[in-house]
Amino acid sequence: MSFESLGLGPALLRALAEQGYAEPTPIQAAAIPVVLEGGDLLAAAQTGTGKTAAFSLPLLHRLSQTAPAGTRRPRALVLTPTRELAAQVHDNLRDYGKHLRISSTTIFGGVSMGPQMQALRRGVDIVIATPGRLIDHMQQRSIDLSGIDVLVLDEADRMLDMGFLPALKRILAALPKQRQTLLFSATFAPPIKALALQFMHQPREVSVTPPNTVATTVTHHVHPVDAANKRDLLLHVLSQDSRRQTLVFSRTKHGADKLVRYLEAAGLRAAAIHGNKSQNARTRALSDFKSGRITVLVATDIAARGIDIDQLPIVINFDLPMVAEDYVHRIGRTGRAGADGMAVSLVSHEESGLLRDIRKLLKQDIAISNVPGFEPSHPLRTDAAAPRPVQGQRQPRQGRPQGSHRPHGHHGGGHGQGGDRPAEGNRKRQRRRRPAAKA
Ligand code: AMP
Repeated sequence: MSFESLGLGPALLRALAEQGYAEPTPIQAAAIPVVLEGGDLLAAAQTGTGKTAAFSLPLLHRLSQTAPAGTRRPRALVLTPTRELAAQVHDNLRDYGKHLRISSTTIFGGVSMGPQMQALRRGVDIVIATPGRLIDHMQQRSIDLSGIDVLVLDEADRMLDMGFLPALKRILAALPKQRQTLLFSATFAPPIKALALQFMHQPREVSVTPPNTVATTVTHHVHPVDAANKRDLLLHVLSQDSRRQTLVFSRTKHGADKLVRYLEAAGLRAAAIHGNKSQNARTRALSDFKSGRITVLVATDIAARGIDIDQLPIVINFDLPMVAEDYVHRIGRTGRAGADGMAVSLVSHEESGLLRDIRKLLKQDIAISNVPGFEPSHPLRTDAAAPRPVQGQRQPRQGRPQGSHRPHGHHGGGHGQGGDRPAEGNRKRQRRRRPAAKA
């Protein structure tokens, strides 16, 4: 199968050759013809399968075939749950569309509205937006959505959940009824799908992997450890290859910051990326990580959306996510595009129930092995009553474990990773009825 046989034009084929893409990935082969035909699409594909190109390529092709209406109204809208993902999609659209005259811009919070307004005033074909800031522009009347022919919801499961729904409904109400709607997501829970069908028109469904599976090239390891010893075990795992780029997940924003301070005190180059950081800080952390200036990036679940790093060899779950589906999303950052990847989870007794949920979702056993010197005082439980951390309740502090190699320059205790407010994704999901959150 070639990109040419899918019906994409020469300018796109040239850009794809420059990108080094030899042939379409399975989701691209399945989705591109449907999108080119103009129909609605529900596409389930795990992260890292090439789903961004699966909608970007046919979108660019269609826009290049139809002349702009002569107005400056955008013709396509891509909605994403996070700023990082919006920036990533924008980069991809620019790469694929470099030989076409199709303009695009991002609209997201955390940066000033002025340049966004100017870009909209000049006129763009494609807007890639997060819902909160898009609504700000709608209120300011700086964007006119009446010319949108194609709507794409990326990471659609997130867009239809976690507090985004009211915002999404407002945006949908401002779009023309007659349009093409494309939903792309790694996971599609039945209620999410039912919701999606309410604003789609006889969508075709394509799915290239069974729901909620992770790339088969990823190996999973669980190391049981007492909560108090997690940071030292993390240092131990990181020290096995200090040059390796490692993405570490923390359940809480506060916990991510504390962890970065701890790692820095131990001499590692680390940065945190989460929703409380300014957009500049988030962009800088990501580019420093990509360029190798820092080797450890500590992220919360939602901030990690859109992080696309070639060949990321290892992802470490410092905390397990409260929602098992997030494990799939986290692990999607490694083993991309066929490369080998490793997922290491540091799991305390209190998280036994979360591990149980993840194993159930993945439908696969995950190897559990103790790391010598870090054996937990309470073993993990696998029975139905296995404990889960209670949100909002303090967990054991990350005290200094006996005989641990505490890094130089590290002051004071109270580095509890547990008990902080849950990271944005989980919190919002718990309060679904809250007004729209800005990404
Ligand atoms: P995505 O699932 O959109 O996040 O894409 C994952 C990675 O696969 C990105 O780094 C893309 O650049 C890359 N990619 C997308 N399509 C292809 C392709 N047809 N051949 C090789 N790499 C691809």
